[in-house]
Amino acid sequence: MSEETRRILLVEDEKAIRDAVVAYLERERYSVVAVGDGQEAIDEFARQEFSLVILDLMLPKVQGDAVCRSIRERSDVPLIMLTAKSEVEDRIIGLEMGADDYLVKPFSPRELMARVRALLRRSSISTETSGEQMEFGRLHIDIPGHKVSVSGTEVELTTSEFKLLVTLATSPGRVFSRMELVEKVLGYDFEGYERTIDSHMKNLRAKIGDDSRHPIWLYTVHGVGYRFETSSGQR
Ligand code: CA
Repeated sequence: MSEETRRILLVEDEKAIRDAVVAYLERERYSVVAVGDGQEAIDEFARQEFSLVILDLMLPKVQGDAVCRSIRERSDVPLIMLTAKSEVEDRIIGLEMGADDYLVKPFSPRELMARVRALLRRSSISTETSGEQMEFGRLHIDIPGHKVSVSGTEVELTTSEFKLLVTLATSPGRVFSRMELVEKVLGYDFEGYERTIDSHMKNLRAKIGDDSRHPIWLYTVHGVGYRFETSSGQR
């Protein structure tokens, strides 16, 4: 979808918030489809293509988490979750359901617009770099060849470390919870194994020469998990 025709699905049952967000989005020349309950959201998403979804968690008919799962079954469209609660747990739940980002109410529409722009930018970056060869400054990843090199020197990674790096690097900027990484990297779903991701991450950082306190590529998201950044990889 081109820049001018970016269509956003907004799912929010509180009319005042919905109207305010629609006004802001339209001012920035996005095309908006706004609906007020979860079932309408699922129907609308099946009917047409969207560049991004803004989804309230507490909704009539079908709850936001169920809508999110339904969307994720068919699409990896960028998705921002709106949540009324501020507890870290709720944010993590949002991310584990497959949301890319979240905002806690009450939020400023300006902040939401900034997140929308950032996510749309990220999704265009990840399209460019989702090929079989990825280059992030000094870091080169050859997916079919299972090879990683830093400044031209090949780095020996275990299968788990390689999967961890590729999972993060193919979605730059997206925050992955430890639980998600356990599922994607280790292939099983068991809470006790979340900390093993930390060990893999520690080894991976040491091997590619990244530093957790001053990261170039691999960032810790405190209380949640990890994300990969491309912008600073040019150093
Ligand atoms: Ca609501």
